[in-house]
Amino acid sequence: MQTDYLIIGQGISGTFLSYYLKKEGKSFLVIDNNYSNSPSKIAAGIINPVTGRRLVTVWMVDEILPFAWKAYQEIGHNLDITAISQKTIIDFFPNPFMRESFLQKIETGDKYVHSFPEQNHFNNLFNYDLGCGEIRPVYTAHLETLLPAWRQQLQKDNNLLEENFEIEQLKVETTKIKYKNITANKIIFCDGTSSFENPFFKQLPFAPNKGEALVVEIPDLPSQHIYKKNMLLTPLQGMGASYFWIGASYIWDFDNADPTAAFRESTEQSLRQWLKIPFKIVEHRSGLRPATLERRPFVGFHPVHSSIGILNGMGTKGCSLAPFFAKQLTDHLLYEEPIAKDADVKRFSKILTRS
Ligand SMILES: Cc1cc2nc3c(=O)[nH]c(=O)nc-3n(C[C@H](O)[C@H](O)[C@H](O)COP(=O)(O)OP(=O)(O)OC[C@H]3O[C@@H](n4cnc5c(N)ncnc54)[C@H](O)[C@@H]3O)c2cc1C
Repeated sequence: MQTDYLIIGQGISGTFLSYYLKKEGKSFLVIDNNYSNSPSKIAAGIINPVTGRRLVTVWMVDEILPFAWKAYQEIGHNLDITAISQKTIIDFFPNPFMRESFLQKIETGDKYVHSFPEQNHFNNLFNYDLGCGEIRPVYTAHLETLLPAWRQQLQKDNNLLEENFEIEQLKVETTKIKYKNITANKIIFCDGTSSFENPFFKQLPFAPNKGEALVVEIPDLPSQHIYKKNMLLTPLQGMGASYFWIGASYIWDFDNADPTAAFRESTEQSLRQWLKIPFKIVEHRSGLRPATLERRPFVGFHPVHSSIGILNGMGTKGCSLAPFFAKQLTDHLLYEEPIAKDADVKRFSKILTRS
């Protein structure tokens, strides 16, 4: 079988890359093993303009946020699903330091961080002694709806092989690659943490990061907001109006990707202290983020093997970064448009050439 592109992985990166290649009329095949704990399957889908205790504005926010909003709306329209919603984060200050940081940020005239005048509005739902503020606009990408819908489309078009990709079977030639009975002009790895072991890319400064989250049923909680108090409590549209995701942990040092009793217990306890209404835990999720040491993605082609590409290293921000960089990679491939310097894998040419 002959195809233009072989894509490994159908997380959010492989989904948008295959979407843009299809839009350009290119032929491609996606190989995905349907791993149930991939980060794209356990994420909340939050696209947030500010991050961390000091509410730092995220990298390239003014380009990446509006792009994400349009990209999810467009793919959703094509698939006849809702792939993204606009929300606000109600940020309940967990301590005086965080309250002060928030108020200072408002004073700088930040366009995403706002005061919330009705301070008593959530008194029946939450315990919060130090008040709250509002972050907007914020989006939630509905990966739990989008990924299966795109998978179905790939299956319908005969563009999906549901199996494990085995790198030992890959043969790389100057202008093409061969994999089993498939010949392609290029292979592009969108396979998350599997790339950490990939002989062509394993020298990249990947830094896997473990995250855990719970899914809880809270029938009486309105779903138009994301609520925050240290952790984020986010509506999970794809599961129904009363389901929320709460998380996540952010762990660099771990033995394995399994869920831990410690996370479940501490999160349940925090939720009990924060929420005034009943809730029930229905799921415990855990997985590894394909993060990188310098918190920037890896996008582009190998400096020696030009038929091998990568779209990876999305870290904590895959929902916003993946559509943006999938489009950049497509435009680079087809129209020789540049890839953002901080994301282009060519910045590691020296170490990749050594392999
Ligand atoms: C708990 C948690 C919460 C998160 N919350 C958010 C959030 O709210 N917002 C946000 O922007 N980001 C969030 N993230 C990060 C986000 O999930 C990732 O950045 C993103 O999902 C990475 O997507 P990806 O497609 O690059 O990789 P992946 O999701 O890892 O996808 C890789 C795909 O490749 C497949 N694959 C791998 N190896 C092989 C192989 N050998 N053969 C065949 N198939 C293979 C896998 O099955 C998978 O489908 C969260 C992550 C975690 C763990």
